[in-house]
Amino acid sequence: MSIIIAGGGIVGITLALAISHETQGRQLVNLIEASDLDMRFSSDTPGRSIALSEATCTTLSAFKIWSSLEPIATKITNIHISDRGFPGSIIMRATDYNVSSLGHVIELKSALRILLILLKDAPGISIYCPNKISHIERTKDFVRVILDNQRTLCGTLLVAADGTSSNVAKICGIKQYHIQYPQRAVVATISTQLEHKGWAFERFTTDGPLAMLPIKNGYSSVVWCQSISNAEATYRLSDQEFLIQLQKTFGWRLGHLENTGKRKIYPLKLQIVGQNISHRLILIGNAAQTLHPVAGQGFNLGIRDVMSLIDTLKIVWKNKKDKGDSRSLQYYQKLRERDVRTTIAITNGLINIFSTKKALLVIGRTVGMAVIDHTPQLRNIIAQWTLGWLKS
Ligand SMILES: Cc1cc2nc3c(=O)[nH]c(=O)nc-3n(C[C@H](O)[C@H](O)[C@H](O)COP(=O)(O)OP(=O)(O)OC[C@H]3O[C@@H](n4cnc5c(N)ncnc54)[C@H](O)[C@@H]3O)c2cc1C
Repeated sequence: MSIIIAGGGIVGITLALAISHETQGRQLVNLIEASDLDMRFSSDTPGRSIALSEATCTTLSAFKIWSSLEPIATKITNIHISDRGFPGSIIMRATDYNVSSLGHVIELKSALRILLILLKDAPGISIYCPNKISHIERTKDFVRVILDNQRTLCGTLLVAADGTSSNVAKICGIKQYHIQYPQRAVVATISTQLEHKGWAFERFTTDGPLAMLPIKNGYSSVVWCQSISNAEATYRLSDQEFLIQLQKTFGWRLGHLENTGKRKIYPLKLQIVGQNISHRLILIGNAAQTLHPVAGQGFNLGIRDVMSLIDTLKIVWKNKKDKGDSRSLQYYQKLRERDVRTTIAITNGLINIFSTKKALLVIGRTVGMAVIDHTPQLRNIIAQWTLGWLKS
C-alpha cells in the first residue's frame, strides 16, 4: 500500500523523490499539495533564499537530487560572524576544513521549480494538487484520507509535511506548542558594489540578527530580523531609505549597497509538536518543528527528518514489515529525538544570548567571540555544526 505525503513543499517533495529513488518506484507515493504547483512557481521574480549545509547537499546527492540543484546553488566559501557595536568577530574559511565550501545557498522558488520537474518524471509518484485533505481515518491496518474533491486515498503511513500550520496535525489532534518571537524577518535580494566572493555574513544586533547570503550573479540575499515595529517600518521604507538603513546596520564589507528587489516580511516563531509520531502518522519538516531562521537550520533539520525516515523505511522494506506500525514509528522517533532537541536549543539559545542587553552576558559573549576566534578547536565545533557534520 502507498505512503501518503501531505504537503508538497521542499521537504515533502524531497521525501517523495527519495522514496522513488530508493525503491525505483516500487513503493507507491501519493503526494497531496494544497496549492497549484505549476502556477506557484511560474513567476521568475526571485524569492527568499536558504542556506544548505554540506551534509544536506550530500544527502540530496545520495537521492540523486543535488546534481539538478547544483547549477542554481552558490557556494559559501567563508562565513563572517560579528556582533554590532562590539569588537571581535569569528571568521570561518572552507579552506581551514579542507572542504570546497561551508554550504550552498539556493533560491527556494527556483529550487522548487526544478524539484517539480523531477517529481513529474519520478516513478511511483502520484500528485494530487491543488487538493487538501478533508478527512482522515486511521484504522489498525491502514490510513484512509478523503480529499476535498471527495477522492479517497489509502495507505499504511501518512506523512505530514504540510508546514507550520499543518492541517494534518490539527485533524489528527496533535498538539502544537509555539512561542512567538517578538521579531519579524524582512527579506530582500540586493546588489552590492563589491563582489561577495562566496562570503556569508551573520551580524548580531540587540534588535535581531542580520544575515547576508551570497547568491547567483553577484547578488546577496538579506534576512534582517528586527523587533516587530522596526521590521514593519523597515518593510515600508522606500528602496533608497531601506538600503541606507541596511548599510548602517551591516557596514561596508560589501562596499556600497546598490539596489534592492521587492521586500517580504515573515513572522518568526518556534513551534514544536507534542509528538512527531502518532498512529500511522509521522510529522516532518516545518510541520514537526518550525525554527527561527537565525542559524539557517529549518530545512537542514527537515532534510535530516527525511533521511531518518528513509533509514527507517529501508529496514521496513528489507524485512517486508508494516511501514506504519508502532515499531517503525518508534524507531523513527528515536532517530530524531536528540538532533531535533539539540538544534532547537542551540537556535533558541543564539537568539537569547545575542538579543540580551544584560551587561554580564554582553561581556560574556564579547569575550566568547574573541576566545572562539582564537581557539581553533572551538571554531572547529562551530564549523562542524555549520557543515551539518556534528552528530548530536
Ligand atoms: C526568513 C527565513 C529564512 C530561512 N532561512 C533558512 C536557511 O537559511 N536554511 C534552512 O535550512 N532553513 C531556512 N529557513 C527555514 C526553511 O525555509 C523551512 O524550514 C522550509 O522551507 C520548510 O519546508 P517544509 O516543506 O517543511 O514546509 P513548507 O515550505 O511550509 O511547505 C509546506 C507545504 O504544504 C502545503 N500545504 C499546507 N497546508 C496543506 C494542506 N492542508 N494540504 C496539503 N498541502 C498543504 C503548502 O502549500 C506547502 O507547499 C528559513 C525560513 C525563513 C522564514
